[in-house]
Amino acid sequence: MRAGIHPIYELRTFHCYGCSSEWQTRTTIQPHSSDGKIHLDICSSCHPFYTGKQKLIDKAGRIERFRRRYEKQAPAAGAPASAASATASDAGTTAQPEPAQQ
Ligand SMILES: [Zn+2]
Repeated sequence: MRAGIHPIYELRTFHCYGCSSEWQTRTTIQPHSSDGKIHLDICSSCHPFYTGKQKLIDKAGRIERFRRRYEKQAPAAGAPASAASATASDAGTTAQPEPAQQ
């Protein structure tokens, strides 16, 4: 084996955020956290493919962003927002000429 070209292959602890299970295995992955463990968002113990159950994985808040976007397009939520922006723009146009006249 040539020296200096192979990654370090050693025993490490893996931790899953999805089901908070831990296990040890040998890997070349270097941990990025200070506790020396390799943290995963999902593992074979909690992944829907292996469990057969539906599970919502939304770490980046994409579903919440999607719902907020559709709340704005709904007529009940959209009408007060447009009315508020119209009054704000009206107030802005009426407020601006007054200092100009003085
Ligand atoms: Zn897991």
